Amino acid sequence: MKNRFWIIIFSAVLIISAGLWILISNLSLSANIVGIYQNNRLIKKIDLNSVTEPYEITISGEAGKNIVQVSNGHIKMKSAQCPDKICVNHGELISNTSPIVCLPNKIVIKFENSSENIDVKTGVK
Ligand SMILES: [Zn+2]
Repeated sequence: MKNRFWIIIFSAVLIISAGLWILISNLSLSANIVGIYQNNRLIKKIDLNSVTEPYEITISGEAGKNIVQVSNGHIKMKSAQCPDKICVNHGELISNTSPIVCLPNKIVIKFENSSENIDVKTGVK
């Protein structure tokens, strides 16, 4: 009986902390819109918070294919056929100060909720 008591307490703590964690991560990621650009044109806009199942996007460019991996709250360049692999080595997109850039394929992945957005219509900052 004593064991069962602790199991119940432990589960309750787990559930509460999981709930808190979800709440906090939702709050801090309330605006998590990411834009994928190629040749300065917006080719895809993703709300990372509304991603339920992870998926991949393949983008073809002059230097081959780039595979972008999207999952809830996360986006990264999973693989690329470009020669430098800077985009892959960048890892996950964390902040707007360092967007994921693939120069050979002219791909830029960045957050859209920034005050210095590129104007989608004109492509001018
Ligand atoms: Zn690259």
